[in-house]
Amino acid sequence: MNTRPLLADAARQLADAGVESPRVDAELLLAHVLAVPRTRLLTLDDVPADAAARFEALVGQRADRVPLQHLTGRAPFRFLELAVGPGVFVPRPETELLAGWALERLAGTDGPIVVDLGSGSGALALSIAHEHPGARVTAVERDPGAIAWTRHNALTRVGAGDTPVGVVEGDMTDPGLLSELDGRVALVVSNPPYVPDGARVPREVAEHDPPLALWGGPDGLDVVRGLLAVAARLLHPGGWLGIEHADQQGSALPAVVRAHGGFADVEDHPDLAGRPRFTTARRAAG
Ligand code: GLN
Repeated sequence: MNTRPLLADAARQLADAGVESPRVDAELLLAHVLAVPRTRLLTLDDVPADAAARFEALVGQRADRVPLQHLTGRAPFRFLELAVGPGVFVPRPETELLAGWALERLAGTDGPIVVDLGSGSGALALSIAHEHPGARVTAVERDPGAIAWTRHNALTRVGAGDTPVGVVEGDMTDPGLLSELDGRVALVVSNPPYVPDGARVPREVAEHDPPLALWGGPDGLDVVRGLLAVAARLLHPGGWLGIEHADQQGSALPAVVRAHGGFADVEDHPDLAGRPRFTTARRAAG
């Protein structure tokens, strides 16, 4: 099959189905089927018939709004390629900034203890472990379907030289969570479920991301309220907290953190599109 019409037809089919980036998705699916980098498609005239058939089947699934990352089985996140699929939240590019902030806070520290609450694919935990050698990172996940992916990625995705990431099954609002780390943690990060109940989300999200990773109660902040007590207990004085939130929670989440008490220097940070994206704070002394 000739590559250009094959891609053009697929892109049209995806556009008609309302997929947001039809051409890119078509190219990424074809590159996936052929196991070549996407740029190779530019100079590829023909696609073997069996590969074309597999490609068309994947395009059909994508048109049915299965996430691209479930079809390729991969999600890029900073320097890692995480394995993802049904049962785990697909890491989003916005969250890379929270990882970047965390790494800046840790820069120059030796063997810091780090906790990622609600780790899912392990994106935050594993990026921190990978980019801050020596960090002692624990990834906490409550969803039995998701933690299989956390464990898999923790075992396979970080470099041989990185300090292994511990994976713990637990609830980020559990008052007794990780009590052995009380007062010893340098940094707590979380991309918790924060979507307000009933909010509209794309079909890919509603049908394929695990509900436990998304829904956060009437204002989306129920889980966050629970995790603040856990973070305050775990962090040592001066330790850092970073929590992702929805576009509309840029003042609500800082207010919840201030009202909780025990934290200082509460700040909110925008993502690359300029939308409020995560709140940070420091554990107050005493
Ligand atoms: N940002 C996610 C979305 O796009 C929501 C993630 C979350 O609740 N942590 O749906």
